[in-house]
Formats: sequence, C-alpha cells, structure tokens
Amino acid sequence: MRTALVLGGSIAGLMAARVLSDHAERVVIVDADDLDTDGARPGVPQLAHLHVLLDMGGTQLQRWLPGLIGELVDDGAVLSDWDRMWQYLDGARKVSVSGRQLLGATRPFIESRVRRRVLARENVTVVRGRVDGLRFTGNRVSGAYYLPLGADRDGREELAGDLVVDATGRASRLGAWLEAAGWQAPPLERMRIDLGYATALFGRGTELPGVTTAQCLSSAPAAGQPPEDTAAMSEVEGGRWMVVLANYADRRPTRDPEEFLTRCGKLGAEPFQEVAARCEMLGEVVVHSVADSRRRDFRRLDRFPAGLVAVGDAVAAFNPVYGQGMASATLHASCLSAFLRSGESLQEPAWGYFRRVRVVVDAAWQLSTLGDLAQPHVTGPYPPGYRFASWYSERFLAATVTDPEVNQVFVDVVNMREHPRLLTRPSTVLRVAKALTGRRRAG
Ligand SMILES: Cc1cc2nc3c(=O)[nH]c(=O)nc-3n(C[C@H](O)[C@H](O)[C@H](O)COP(=O)(O)OP(=O)(O)OC[C@H]3O[C@@H](n4cnc5c(N)ncnc54)[C@H](O)[C@@H]3O)c2cc1C
Repeated sequence: MRTALVLGGSIAGLMAARVLSDHAERVVIVDADDLDTDGARPGVPQLAHLHVLLDMGGTQLQRWLPGLIGELVDDGAVLSDWDRMWQYLDGARKVSVSGRQLLGATRPFIESRVRRRVLARENVTVVRGRVDGLRFTGNRVSGAYYLPLGADRDGREELAGDLVVDATGRASRLGAWLEAAGWQAPPLERMRIDLGYATALFGRGTELPGVTTAQCLSSAPAAGQPPEDTAAMSEVEGGRWMVVLANYADRRPTRDPEEFLTRCGKLGAEPFQEVAARCEMLGEVVVHSVADSRRRDFRRLDRFPAGLVAVGDAVAAFNPVYGQGMASATLHASCLSAFLRSGESLQEPAWGYFRRVRVVVDAAWQLSTLGDLAQPHVTGPYPPGYRFASWYSERFLAATVTDPEVNQVFVDVVNMREHPRLLTRPSTVLRVAKALTGRRRAG
C-alpha cells in the first residue's frame, strides 16, 4: 500500500496510524485540531475528564508501542495493582482481586506520549485541516477532501489514500459523506442515556495510603427512586487525585464546587469522603454531558466501498462510566492489523475488518448497555432476553462484594480481558448462587 489516510488523530487515529505504518509506505493523519499540544483541544472536549486505562488498553498500547507504559510511569503516571483499587457497591467494599493493573493519568498526558511515539515513526505525518468529504474512484474510496486551517470552501484540498480510516470520533460524518456519493450510511443505533459528568482535581497528601483508585457503584434504583451518584477517582501524575461524579437526567452534577464536595461526602465510600474532607480542590469543576451511547453497524450494509474502514468512537461510543473507549480503540487497531495481515484484497470492501471489529463492539456494548437499561429514565431498545439478564446481573453484582472468584470474573470482563459470556458460564453461575446462599445463611 502506498498511502494510508487516517481522518482524526486522537487515540483511535493514532493507534490505527501505528498499525498502518507497518503496511503503508506513507501514513498521513488529518486532524482539525493542533496536535502539537499537551493541553485541551476543541475536537475532544472530554479530555479534561478522568480517563482510566483498562488493563486490556494497557496491554494493547504496550503491544503496539513497546515500553510505553514504563515511559508513562517514569513520567509520573500511577500504575497500580488491583488491590490498590477500592471498589464499592451500595456502600460495601468489595473483596480484592489480583493480577490486573490500572493506569492512572490524565488523558492529555497519555495521549501526548502515544502521539510522540507514533509520530516518531519515519513514515507517519500530520496535516492540519477539517475533512469534509470522501473522494471516490469507481467503487472505492481513494482519498478525502479537507479544508486547511483558516481556508473556506474555495480553498478545499484533497489527499489521496489507498486506504482511508475514519477516526473522527462519535460525531463522525462518515454516513453523510457516503450518502452524498450515493452509498448507504451504516445504520446508527442509539441508546439515550442523558448522562452528566463532573470532574475535579485535588492535591494528594498523606491520606488514603494504599489506595490509588476507587470506584463507587450502586444497584439499580427501586421503582420511583432516583439513581444514586456513580463515582470514580484515581491518583494521576503530579501528585493529584482526579475525581469524577456521574448521574443521569435531572440528577446530573453541576459545576458548583460546594455541591461537588457535598455529593462526594455523601457517597458510601471512604476514599471519596476523605478527599472531599481533607484535600484542596485544584481549579474548577468541569462538566460534560453525553446524550447517548451509539454504534454504527457496518455489517448490516449489503454494499460498501472498498478502501474504507472506521475505528474508535466513529464505530461505537459507550457510556463513559465503564471506561471502555480507549481500550476499544486499541483493540480496533489490532483488528485492523489482523485484517491487513490476512491478505484480504483492499480492492474489495473490508468486510473482514468489520467482522472482527464487531466482536469487540458487541462485547463492550452488551456490558455497558445492560447497566444503562437498568436506569429508570432509559427506555431501550431492550435486547432479547433482557429481563433474565437484568435479574441475573443484579445477583451477580451482589456476589462480587464478597466472593473473590466472582469479583475476579467481573474485573476481567470489565477490563475487556474476557468476553461477557464468562459472566453466565455454568461455573460462574454456580459460584454466584453459592455466594448468595452463604450470605443469606450468614445473615
Ligand atoms: C466524559 C467522558 C469520560 C470518558 N472516560 C473514559 C475513560 O475513563 N476511559 C476510556 O478509555 N475512555 C473514556 N472515554 C471515552 C474516550 O474519550 C473515547 O472513547 C476516545 O476519546 C475515542 O477516541 P477516538 O480517537 O475514537 O475519538 P476522539 O477522541 O473523539 O477524537 C476524534 C478526533 O477526530 C478529530 N476530528 C473530528 N472531526 C474531524 C474532521 N471533520 N476533520 C478532521 N479531524 C476531525 C478531532 O479533532 C479529534 O482529534 C470517556 C468519554 C467521555 C465523553
């Protein structure tokens, strides 16, 4: 392949570019933002929020950029074993599990190091500009049109590519670009979640020795009751805590710092109470809203141009509470690698890629939407078998509090190391039943 064109240079675009640099003479990344920054960027407004890197995300980053995790840690990121991750459900601290790691660092910090490593590859370059359409040659995509920084439509330019990768995130315009050229847009499935996020940084002192990360979850609310706050916190570079509160609909947290501290103090989880009571808030509370979880199902199309794939949030963007985004993006890069290595022709639609990526998307979607559907304001779509899945998942979650084996399964699935089917494996179901029977007897 002569040129691979990657539209969007955030985490998914960078990882795709890394993979493509092994297969193309030249890889060109086009992004509307100035990528030469370690700070905020308008193209990715969620950069200011806590971004935990799931265990699978760490493994995949390390696969494509060997030594990266060590470099992040040397620069100040906090890599912790799971026993330093305190998890709570309905105010009860869960049993510890082992063998998994979590990286605590701000998202710009992680991304800037990934970017540095990818752009250090000789055949990868960046062009600054806003992509506004695809170029077609017959039945294949052969490039993209873009507006360089400051140019109007008369200044539109084009870039050629033998393979074009859409990595423009959840608001991707790929469907519109395809339709404009007479192709079908991939069907877009949306689940309205109406989520609100608030994040604040705190100075870390001597409080909470032995804790680097904490998470506070609640069971689904009873009928007529509002959902409790979900919260997560992590130690990040620079000796700071990053704390996030999330809730839905009219319970969304605001940017009021007093409200933030009060809500942290009311959580049934000691680490949040400690930070709210003892640590100094640094800067302002930042908020963000996520209207829906969404996925584009390319496999449901009967026709698709050759020379085009999509990665990252452009394929599927989930409720961020589950922290699956960056790990998914790295797995999509691995799917792209497997596709390119399979020898399937680039002169045909990349069905082999979309088949692989669908496995990753289905697994992440299954997990995150099961939790979302339990919220009273979420109205579907409900998948077949939802009532049983929801009944079982409540019991499964209750068993994660006391049973180390069940919690290990939960942690492995949540970290995308295992497929969600592990949750209903007969040995897991048996273990859940035993844990709950034991609890009833003890109670
Ligand atoms: C509040 C919040 C918290 C989150 N927390 C976590 C977490 O804890 N852990 C986790 O793993 N994930 C988390 N996520 C998800 C994560 O942010 C995304 O999954 C991830 O950023 C997706 O990367 P991406 O590269 O696909 O898209 P994006 O990061 O959205 O990047 C898209 C890129 O495309 C560029 N672009 C867009 N349109 C154009 C165009 N027309 N022309 C040129 N360039 C364009 C943008 O400038 C940007 O650089 C969170 C998300 C949110 C909203």
